[in-house]
Amino acid sequence: AKEAGKDKYVVFDQYLNDIFTERMYIEKQLYLALEQDEFELFYQPQVDLALNKVTGLEALLRWNSPELGYVSPLKFIKVAEDSHLIIPLGAWVLSKACTFLQHLHEQGFEHLTISVNISMLQLLQNDFNELVLNTLESSGLQPHYLELEITESIFVESYGHVSSKLNELRTHNIKIALDDFGTGYSSLSYLTHLPISTLKIDKSFIDSIPAGTNKATLVEQIIMIGKRMNMTVIAEGVERKDQLDFLQEQGCDKIQGYFFSKPKAGKDIEQLLADWEMTGIT
Ligand code: C2E
Ligand code: CA
Ligand code: CA
Ligand code: CA
Repeated sequence: AKEAGKDKYVVFDQYLNDIFTERMYIEKQLYLALEQDEFELFYQPQVDLALNKVTGLEALLRWNSPELGYVSPLKFIKVAEDSHLIIPLGAWVLSKACTFLQHLHEQGFEHLTISVNISMLQLLQNDFNELVLNTLESSGLQPHYLELEITESIFVESYGHVSSKLNELRTHNIKIALDDFGTGYSSLSYLTHLPISTLKIDKSFIDSIPAGTNKATLVEQIIMIGKRMNMTVIAEGVERKDQLDFLQEQGCDKIQGYFFSKPKAGKDIEQLLADWEMTGIT
């Protein structure tokens, strides 16, 4: 079987420059992957700066293809969206993430929340809210532990439809995070009209810290706006201590990034949480 895999890889390699063929190939492999259980969820800690504790995890999809090796979600999510495979794949992610968090709760990590990335296409499905509520029900997880991460592009496409759905989810105490905030079509009016609980500052802004730069000034403004609007502000892609210090000084609530931990497989994150419980976050 390994030999056959190698041959196919060579075939793939030949066409690597042909984007269309590559996409077709990935699409085909994605279908097989879902059937053959090749996906895995990794989890990255979100650290509350005031508590100096992990309060949540973001679930991040990983695909280890025997054919293609490791494929970045930046590449395959787009293909999954275009081919609508994101619908069953997204449902799988949601279910897996909620089940894992419920497991962690039972291991004694009762306070943790789980953040799950949601594609626009998922949110546009008529039965999306039903899917979310059913998934919570069958995993045994209480709704306020679940946060859905969405991006602003969703609103540009169909604001009214999406906002009523999100409002309904909020009435169930499910949290909504605005991901990659500051990139794309940012409009501050979204913030006042939508039930957003969390603002997630995009990594590109965090990269520009230290203080004194224009983008770092924007980070200060975003944090201020979030606080004014009673939202939790989280910074993503924090890699260095000086970024952490700056964000803490500005009153940012939470941090996610390699500085604390890369995303890890379920059993590894469980170990990390147990270790940090003993030693404090290191
Ligand atoms: P995202 O939602 O903005 O996720 C954050 C990305 O930044 C993740 O990349 C994470 O591994 C990476 N990251 C976190 N901290 C650091 C850091 O300190 N330094 C650096 N260099 N990177 C950091 P990843 O896991 O490759 O995911 C890429 C994107 O793929 C995600 O961006 C998200 O848009 C999408 N994605 C991942 N999993 C899912 C999923 O289950 N569903 C959907 N719809 N999209 C997903
Ligand atoms: Ca995200
Ligand atoms: Ca993000
Ligand atoms: Ca991003």
